[in-house]
Amino acid sequence: MAMRDPYEVLGVPRNATEAEIKKAYRRLARKHHPDVNPGDASAQKKFQEIAAAWEVLKEPARRDRFDRTGEAGEAPPGAPGWAQAGRGPAGSTGFHWTGDFRDVFSDLFSGGGGGSPFEGDDDAAAELTIPFRDAVLGGTVSFRARVPRRCGRCAGTGRSGRSACAVCHGTGSVSENEKRTVRIPAGVDSGSKIRVPGKGRTEQGDLYLSIQVEGHPYFRRDGDDIAAEVPVTVPEAYLGAEIEVPTIHGGVRAKIPAGTASGQRFRLKGKGVINARTASAGDHYYRITVLTPDVRTEGGRALVKEIAKLYAIDPRAGLPRGL
Ligand SMILES: [Zn+2]
Repeated sequence: MAMRDPYEVLGVPRNATEAEIKKAYRRLARKHHPDVNPGDASAQKKFQEIAAAWEVLKEPARRDRFDRTGEAGEAPPGAPGWAQAGRGPAGSTGFHWTGDFRDVFSDLFSGGGGGSPFEGDDDAAAELTIPFRDAVLGGTVSFRARVPRRCGRCAGTGRSGRSACAVCHGTGSVSENEKRTVRIPAGVDSGSKIRVPGKGRTEQGDLYLSIQVEGHPYFRRDGDDIAAEVPVTVPEAYLGAEIEVPTIHGGVRAKIPAGTASGQRFRLKGKGVINARTASAGDHYYRITVLTPDVRTEGGRALVKEIAKLYAIDPRAGLPRGL
């Protein structure tokens, strides 16, 4: 596939400075990053083009070569780039990033190297902590964010006639504590990024939210899988039972086989997080804890003594005596 003109891809003039190119790259790469465009194949293709254009224009030698010959030349060995992965797993678009994907990601969205990457940019960044439920099932979250916006009175010039603008005191921007609403796609996890279009420093910029997910008192999350404990009675464990297992999608009837031991783990396939980004579903794992009954009566004690006779061997016979 012939490579597109990297200047065109990044939307910068041929005489753009390194800083201008870097700024354009960061802005476009953030906007089209696959992580903020879950399931959008065209965004992924665009991101790939942007990354390839950046690889050419960031290296003075390669940029110079392109300017002279119109050829991008080969990336130096070991440089990150996009590779065709061939037939990937279902849902895969066939491309994979051969460099450290996380490095690119954190460089685009966090400080990395001092100073805010959003400085002098139309975009803005904020952190947002969301409830467990909205993260796993998706939802709409309202929050307040303090984001610098262009001053409306002076249209960002900082001037009002011959004096400084009274609203922004000559700075051209005002800090607004605005109520915002954002749609959370199902399957978002801590570290995920969400783009809110048109809500950056200016109307041309976007707001990037760095997501933190609150814990849950009962459900634990491991990627798209959910884990939780389910208590059963001694007779249920011995004889088997049909019980209701709580999952994030509601209660699910499940059979406990006769002779289930405490600590045994079972799986409900596809009952974990249904991830909008990967279009796949995790599983729900539930671990059995066998509850001993509270025995207070003589009759109860007699029954327990009968149970004691059922232990054919010493349950601790196989344990080591120590180190
Ligand atoms: Zn102003």
